[in-house]
Amino acid sequence: MKNYYDILGVPKTATEEEIKTAFRKLAHKYHPDKKGGDEKKFKEASEAYAVLSDKKKRAEYDAYGRTFAGGGAGPGGFDFSNFNFGQGFEGFSANGQEFDLGDIFGEFFGGGTRQRRGRDISIDIELPFKESIFGTERRVLIAKTGICDTCSGTGAAKGAKMVSCTSCNGKGEIRESRNTFFGTFSSTRVCPRCRGRGEMPETACKTCRGEGVLKREEEIHVTVPAGISDGEMIRMPRMGEAVAGGIAGDLYVKLHIRPDKQFAREGNNLLTSLPIKLTDALLGGEYRIRTFDGEEMLTVPAGVNHGEVLRVRGKGVPYGRGSRGDLLVRVDVEFPKKLSGAARELIEKLRGEGL
Ligand SMILES: [Zn+2]
Ligand SMILES: [Zn+2]
Repeated sequence: MKNYYDILGVPKTATEEEIKTAFRKLAHKYHPDKKGGDEKKFKEASEAYAVLSDKKKRAEYDAYGRTFAGGGAGPGGFDFSNFNFGQGFEGFSANGQEFDLGDIFGEFFGGGTRQRRGRDISIDIELPFKESIFGTERRVLIAKTGICDTCSGTGAAKGAKMVSCTSCNGKGEIRESRNTFFGTFSSTRVCPRCRGRGEMPETACKTCRGEGVLKREEEIHVTVPAGISDGEMIRMPRMGEAVAGGIAGDLYVKLHIRPDKQFAREGNNLLTSLPIKLTDALLGGEYRIRTFDGEEMLTVPAGVNHGEVLRVRGKGVPYGRGSRGDLLVRVDVEFPKKLSGAARELIEKLRGEGL
């Protein structure tokens, strides 16, 4: 069990305010959209904060070392492992302002969404083995909601004047009052007509009917890095579905790698096998082998064992800055199934030699 107090760096006696301040600091430091951010640490801190900032959960945690809501540490079933960082953080990374805690917590705890966010999309790409080793480029056609090219997402016809929204009188939000038995409650919500902008074009864009977005096919360029593994996912921020007046979701590209007949992968090394003749196993020999970089001469030393592994340096999987793993060649000694009379005679002689 993780120690939430240690994660936030506060004592068990910390006040609500101290916990909030500690989390705020860590959220700044580790936010994954930030340079030097750390997604894992950010999630950890968020999880700790979610529990310790909630009186009931904190009490449960203090008493039992865990919470009971939502089957784990997450508040109300919120699954932090799938937490999507695109939500509610745009202001922070976009203009470097102090981010608003209310924005985060609104998203975290199911409160109001201040900024609309498009849906994430996930697609699958199948790659030949060799392309997974050296990386590749792919162009994929995706049907998705994108920003309207005609109006660049403004929803306005070319040259149209912007006028104050009549639904909200240019305020961008609408105040609503409800009368209940307990009294009158009022709340504000984002104006649905102008989506919070407070103004609207006098004439709407014809292409998207003023929506600013529309469904269409878009060609997406995917760069697959070298050395990617089967099942790995590439996240392309803001390449998912667009949404008018908000931020686009993310695109997730899952990679499926077709196995190769000749090569397999083990970490940064490539594995292959080389059938050799029995006489070459005994006397040594030169073999021309295929690598992904072309042909290569491999010296098989005399007395090599069946199953022994020979190493061809630097012909494996690229990693880091210009580093390469090795090609490991497993020797398969081919024993003749049938011997000619002459061969038998020679081998009988060998036996006589005590071999
Ligand atoms: Zn348009
Ligand atoms: Zn409005």
